Amino acid sequence: MLRVPGNRETTVMKIFNLAILILLWQAVLVAETLDAAQILDAALHHVRNGTGPEWSEFDGPPESTSYQLKFEGNAADSEQTLRIAQHDVKQLWSIELNGKKLGRLHRDENAIVGFWSIPKSTLVDGQNDLQISTTSKNSDDILVGDIALYDGAATDVLSECPVTVSVRDKTTGKPTPCRITILHAGRLMTSGAQSNDQMAVRPGVIYCTGDAEFGLPPGTYEIVAGRGPEYGIDSRSLTVVPGKTLALELSIEREVSTDGFAACDTHVHTLTHSGHGDSTVRERMLTLAGEGIEFPIATDHNVHIDYEELADELGIRGFFTPVIGNEVTTKFGHFNVFPVASADVPIPNYKADNWPDIFASIYGTPDVKVAILNHSRDIHSSYRPFGPGHHLAATSTNLDGWDLQANAMEVVNSAAQQTDVMQLVRDWMSQLNAGRRLTPVGCSDSHDVARHFVGQGRTYIRCDDADPGHIDVDAAVDSFVAGRVSIGCGLFADIRINQTAGPGGTVGKSKRYVAKVDVCGPSWMEADEIEVFVNGQSVRTFELKTADRSKPGVKARLEMQLPISANQDAFVVAVARGPGVRKLHWPIAKPYQPVSTDWTPTFVAVTGAIWIDADGDGRFTSARKYATEVCTASDYNSGRVLEQLKKFDSAVAVHAAELLMTDSPDTFVSGAFRDARKSSPVIRGAFETYYDEWQQSQRARAGAAGETGR
Ligand SMILES: [Zn+2]
Ligand SMILES: [Zn+2]
Repeated sequence: MLRVPGNRETTVMKIFNLAILILLWQAVLVAETLDAAQILDAALHHVRNGTGPEWSEFDGPPESTSYQLKFEGNAADSEQTLRIAQHDVKQLWSIELNGKKLGRLHRDENAIVGFWSIPKSTLVDGQNDLQISTTSKNSDDILVGDIALYDGAATDVLSECPVTVSVRDKTTGKPTPCRITILHAGRLMTSGAQSNDQMAVRPGVIYCTGDAEFGLPPGTYEIVAGRGPEYGIDSRSLTVVPGKTLALELSIEREVSTDGFAACDTHVHTLTHSGHGDSTVRERMLTLAGEGIEFPIATDHNVHIDYEELADELGIRGFFTPVIGNEVTTKFGHFNVFPVASADVPIPNYKADNWPDIFASIYGTPDVKVAILNHSRDIHSSYRPFGPGHHLAATSTNLDGWDLQANAMEVVNSAAQQTDVMQLVRDWMSQLNAGRRLTPVGCSDSHDVARHFVGQGRTYIRCDDADPGHIDVDAAVDSFVAGRVSIGCGLFADIRINQTAGPGGTVGKSKRYVAKVDVCGPSWMEADEIEVFVNGQSVRTFELKTADRSKPGVKARLEMQLPISANQDAFVVAVARGPGVRKLHWPIAKPYQPVSTDWTPTFVAVTGAIWIDADGDGRFTSARKYATEVCTASDYNSGRVLEQLKKFDSAVAVHAAELLMTDSPDTFVSGAFRDARKSSPVIRGAFETYYDEWQQSQRARAGAAGETGR
């Protein structure tokens, strides 16, 4: 279940008790009420669909299972407008007035002030009946309230006070692509703007190339400009009045230097080509530029899409180099592949029913060099690639006998967050111990403009990015495949060993191995710890000084001598973590398929692996290979194997346990396992871990009661 990452102070998200939260909102509302013709309900209400709380922050009893309001009104023969504040909406909730459907709440967990048109002749004299309800089968705790009525059509209400915002890069003085966030009382405020070729618009969010025009109802707002995690933010509070254009200038500057790394999002969808989510492909171009993605891979489901012409038409091709890819969406896992030679080549066979055929088809697609295993802990089409029914996590063994021929795997997927941000990091390091060279990947899996936005998870690829519009695709892909990457959700980390080797590099035999790890982030994001792993084992957790946590750029550098044994090669990975930003200019999303109602929002950076040839034989040897050599040389005699294992770490021992079990399953428990439990703590722990997982997998494969998530 929930593993505590490092020594962070908080283990679960203990945000305010809901009652206090609602009271706080109430206080804010009184202080900052937006004018309206009629306030129908100033309070905020907790409504629950389903039986139990969706999140522990909602653990108190709800007021009801749907929202109902009866209010006195007057018939109107012109269009009217309804305002509703909503929080944490995940399912589809319909809004009905006097039995007529006005629309749905925004399907978005972020706090939003939304506006809906009321067609003429919907309101009646006397009692009116407003209802907000869902027919979803899934549990969803929401807050709704602050409901008001406006005289006039929504387009008029929302354009009463014109605003222009221009965002400049502080260094060049030129307009810069950006995200503009409009907040009222801490909620995303719907503006009067509509998406066009210059702006991608959602409630409270506008992506543009530097200049935006929109309207707002009279009131006081906070406007924030930013451009992803490498830039600082600028914000201003403003009060707007009808009929008078308010012109605002904001400037942002780069705070995190990632020169020599191209910011890549390997997992990008559009409504246009995937058929779900909400971002059209035109809006996607603006969001990519606005989040500072320099190397986007188009990965709609089972299609090859080329952004080239559209990016050119919109005049923003210079901000990034697009690559044609595909999310090969099968019933046995999703695999992002790139680069695809052209949009016209045949798509890989996504109907194949086994990995060997799927990978053959992927690598048979012209030019494809990368196959990423996506969101391997999530269930799609009833299949969870790394579920216990198919996968033994300690050894990364596929229990269906399918070889994982991917050369990369998602470790951070910002739209499909894991409850435990370290889960996929551990899974990835386990794959490396098994001898597979997988490049770690950070990506967004964004289908939306704002809800799960593009580029929050990302992969920095070591290559020349001086001109983002002309990145050498072959060079970047080669670098990616070689593991010369650092991935992040918010934070960025870089690592060097013995001055010279970075991620993807190899260090030869040496007397000492000294690692230097930099953790970087903008001033609006904190990092609080760095953890260093050798062969998947944590060897050091370093806590940042409080004063350093919100520094812009390099927040801290850890320098340490690595505990490396001359008996065994090693790979080294550094992870940086910090509290996830919940503020609405760059909010982190809640887990997609949570395994707990508790959640610690966390930003993370994970470096690619550096390989150390510590035994000096001129190549890197994996834990699996050492274990195989030990077992073979000892003729699978468990006493001799256990004696030999003392020279190695637990990664080798866990693989030896599997090899011994496979060699003689009938005598494993009474022989090797029993002897291992009397051996050193490292060996005992490794054998117990292996046997535990083996039993879990047996139960899952037998479909035993209580075992889910095959
Ligand atoms: Zn997918
Ligand atoms: Zn996807």
